[in-house]
Amino acid sequence: MRLRRPRWTGRLSLTQQVALLSLVPVVALGFILARVLETQIVTRTVADADQSAQLVARLGIQPELSPRALREGLTPAGIRSLDRQLSQRKVSKDLARIKIWSAQHKVIYSDIHSLIGRTLAPSDDLEKALAGKPKDAQLVTPSAHSETASEVGLGQLVEVYVPLRFAATGPPAGAFEIYLSYRPIAAAVARDKRTIMLLVAIGLGLLWAVLYRIVARASRRLRRQARDNYRLAYYDQLTGLPNRTLFIERVGDAVRREAGGRGAVAVLLLDLDRFTEINNTLGNANGDAVLREVARRLSSDLAGGALAARLGGDEYAVVCPHTDGVAGAQRTAAAIQASLETPIALDGVALNVEASIGIAVMGPDTEDPDLLLQHADAALGHARSQSSRVEVYSEDCNRFDATRLVLLGEVRGALERGEFTLFYQPKMDLQSRRLTGVEALVRWRHPRHGLLSPASFIPLVEQTALIGPLTNYVIDEALRQMTVWRRRGIDLDMAVNLSARNLLDPALPGLIADLLARHGVAARRLTVEITESASMVNPERAVAVLRALRASGVGVSVDDFGTGNASIDYLAALPASEIKIDKSFITEILGDARAEAIVRSTIDLARNLGLGVVAEGIETEAVLEHLSSLGCATGQGYFLSRPLPAEELTSKLTASFGLSAAEAGRARGARAVVPRS
Ligand code: C2E
Ligand code: CA
Ligand code: CA
Repeated sequence: MRLRRPRWTGRLSLTQQVALLSLVPVVALGFILARVLETQIVTRTVADADQSAQLVARLGIQPELSPRALREGLTPAGIRSLDRQLSQRKVSKDLARIKIWSAQHKVIYSDIHSLIGRTLAPSDDLEKALAGKPKDAQLVTPSAHSETASEVGLGQLVEVYVPLRFAATGPPAGAFEIYLSYRPIAAAVARDKRTIMLLVAIGLGLLWAVLYRIVARASRRLRRQARDNYRLAYYDQLTGLPNRTLFIERVGDAVRREAGGRGAVAVLLLDLDRFTEINNTLGNANGDAVLREVARRLSSDLAGGALAARLGGDEYAVVCPHTDGVAGAQRTAAAIQASLETPIALDGVALNVEASIGIAVMGPDTEDPDLLLQHADAALGHARSQSSRVEVYSEDCNRFDATRLVLLGEVRGALERGEFTLFYQPKMDLQSRRLTGVEALVRWRHPRHGLLSPASFIPLVEQTALIGPLTNYVIDEALRQMTVWRRRGIDLDMAVNLSARNLLDPALPGLIADLLARHGVAARRLTVEITESASMVNPERAVAVLRALRASGVGVSVDDFGTGNASIDYLAALPASEIKIDKSFITEILGDARAEAIVRSTIDLARNLGLGVVAEGIETEAVLEHLSSLGCATGQGYFLSRPLPAEELTSKLTASFGLSAAEAGRARGARAVVPRS
């Protein structure tokens, strides 16, 4: 449903068309008015002429006549007197011809003297006048064949018959036949007509102008309304980006254009990580600001005709209408992620926003735009649980997507049935090579899917309140395991991971204190690992929770250090006791000078801030040696041990040395104690 204007309106605007069309009736009206007025002017002027002819006859001529003169004819002196009267123009300057008839049709007088005394056949008009019923004056053009033959040559005339009476009653004694010259009358008519026409033209012009203004204003309003309606129907009000409707239309357009061609259409679906938390904790106004900023970055960084849209909530989409396939789409995804790397400044707080991106690329079987979107959505579901946060659609995504929601629905039951379990990965003092503690990493022994890694369910659970009970379980179980080990003489510190949502729970410090007390574990033996970005979702609340934990003696470790964007200032303000360098730098440390520099400076930084430092992801002996030479205090990684179930770790600790558990706990040379599994 696209709003399209008909083609013919291309040349003229709506207002111009209405102006032109309305001109037609206005001009026609002017024409009719002019005709009607003209007829009326002529009728009125002729009536005036009639009146003046009657006055001439009755007042100017009749006094010269007598009943006798009518019976016997005028005397030559009478004729001369009338001639004088007429020539002196006393009666009328417009008089062109006059005949005075007796009741017996004899011409008593005429300005043509040859007619005087002659009896002529009367015209109908004369008969009527003689009968006392003269017709109205009328305009005539004398012709040789008519009764006005004697008036030929005088031009257009006004013909007037006036009965001639000497007594108040009885039939008239005769009649006047008077012809007035029409020329001066016509001149008066023309003058009047000009004035009236001018007035009509001005009036109609004004009417048309008013009409035009009304139409122009209405048209402007309509156009604005149409524009608003279009925006409402096709654009997102908050960000100004195209909405889902327009996006799907554009994907359809792109697919149709590309079908059979050599390029491909790629659809990228984007979902902001942890947006619900941002919204809940920083308020809707800040949430909106984040959505607007993300929209701005998205649309300003796109190239090659790509179009960004907001599909709703924190879901965005990009269509690349002409790419070279998966590689091109991945480049776009990488560019988008890079553009989101700069923290968003909100009320003085720098907020890190990350997005998961699902990609679907048009292939021979996916020339249906809806399917393309469905695939991108499935890929997005998958991307949320990947560390790369980007996933290209494949058959697996569908399967995964289907299980995703089911999994989430099963979490509560799984907690009740005890399907979650903890694996423990040792941490070692790199200088003394002694085991110092373990990190608890959760696993789900799923009845159908087998052993699930946290990556496949933590990102889901984190988005719901269920992360609370799950974290509670992890801490409770980890502390319980500590006491089991302690009874066997193995004395290890414990680290547990917290999610961003946990840090927003003001009850967490109290909860942890209760668990510590219940298991009889000293607070300083427990460390919570948090990621930089987790603490930045709502820095104030997170810092308050972390402060309370630190105050109670619990350690706070900044996990995955180096992957977030926390500033040094911010880090210094964070109540941390330890930095845990992200494994991506550790695995690269020997081959990548940049990674090495980061690790080196992080170790310095930790020392300067008085914080402990842990390197995670040590996979080879060479890396371990190098870290040790850089002065890194503690290490963790597959080279030392993979995360293991408690019993397995216990038997490794005891069996490999053939020592008692207590001795194993204190044993030096942990590499030998915990061989690679
Ligand atoms: P993390 O806290 O960074 O945990 C370290 C991850 O790195 C673990 O993956 C561990 O198995 C893996 N790892 C350890 N040594 C090496 C190594 O040498 N090389 C490589 N490549 N990887 C190594 P795991 O157990 O799959 O956990 C993944 C993530 O899930 C954890 O990352 C943590 O963020 C989260 N997680 C685990 N347990 C919990 C939990 O109880 N609660 C919460 N909120 N998150 C958890
Ligand atoms: Ca961790
Ligand atoms: Ca980590």
